[in-house]
Amino acid sequence: MTHLIPLSSISISNLEKCYVNDALDNNMLSSSGTYVKKFENLIAYRTNTNYAIATSSGTSSLELLLRAMDIGFNDEVIVPAFTFASPALAVASLGAKPIFVDISQETWTIDPSEVMKKINKRTKAIIAVDILGHPCDYDELKKFGLPIIEDAAEAHGATYKSIPVGSLGNAAIFSFHANKVISCGEGGSVVTNDINLNQKIRNLNSFGMDPQRNYWHIQCGSNRKMSNLVAAFGVGQLERWAELIAGRKEVAKQYDDAFKSLPIQRRPVAEWAEESVWLYTLASEKRQSILEACIKNGIDARAVWPLLPENPIFNCDSNGYPIAKKISSTAIWLPTWSFMPQDYIEQIISVIKNVFK
Ligand SMILES: *Cc1c(COP(=O)(O)O)cnc(C)c1O
Repeated sequence: MTHLIPLSSISISNLEKCYVNDALDNNMLSSSGTYVKKFENLIAYRTNTNYAIATSSGTSSLELLLRAMDIGFNDEVIVPAFTFASPALAVASLGAKPIFVDISQETWTIDPSEVMKKINKRTKAIIAVDILGHPCDYDELKKFGLPIIEDAAEAHGATYKSIPVGSLGNAAIFSFHANKVISCGEGGSVVTNDINLNQKIRNLNSFGMDPQRNYWHIQCGSNRKMSNLVAAFGVGQLERWAELIAGRKEVAKQYDDAFKSLPIQRRPVAEWAEESVWLYTLASEKRQSILEACIKNGIDARAVWPLLPENPIFNCDSNGYPIAKKISSTAIWLPTWSFMPQDYIEQIISVIKNVFK
């Protein structure tokens, strides 16, 4: 059936339209156009980092970054057991092995005390996923002395002890997929303060060409660049950074207020964190009833990702991740986007309240 209220949508203003038209009028569509540079400057500015590389997606950003960090065959990379699959897929695509770690009950992010148990001499990095807009506990994760890759795909605008996500590890990635907090349909970015990583990623992403000699390939590079047309849209969105982040928080606040007295758990927020709202997430033992009621009323609420290690491609047993397993089997996303119509919010609230009547 077609859903009347989608899970997500993009708030598009005249700014995005104006920049896209400008790129068209100037016949600047490839990655060498000026909007790509502007896009990179804006995301670096917002994340308090020195370098940003615009890419075709969050996943391609992870692939580029891991390659630039020389992660490959037989290496191990620590990944949380509860996340969208991208970080684990990117690790596996390089012939390395994702090593799954449970999340903590307090934050739903990777549990540092569990990380410790999985480190050995093959461990090359930790991918810390700022899950559902919540930063990981970076001070604790840094104690292991391993490189930290921050997957901030869902967390534009969140902060850890007042420091913006994106600047907390050796490098970070963002996604600008259609359902993310800031979007350009499909797109991504790596951000870092590491000048060498920046250069390595740019070289890899320019087909592995010698920067001094055109069409002379010194490594097996690829092309995961963002087009100027997409960047033009993205610049419009990035200029609306504060407004788009606040818009989602406003929706979450209404959900919070409405569900206060119901026996459901909102995603927790640590006292050292300022969350960014991606998709509003709640956990309930009555997940099935809530989902059925939503479907019946044309609301595209969804069950969250299944436990990642349980997926056929990773072929692991599902034991050893009790918290991730619990969240995977009880949590739900509610439709969330900036400036979603007020009557949608009220409709969703009323359907969920009815389940508990
Ligand atoms: C969306 C997402 C990605 C991948 O981003 P794409 O742009 O869709 O490739 C990676 N990690 C996490 C945690 C995500 O939510």
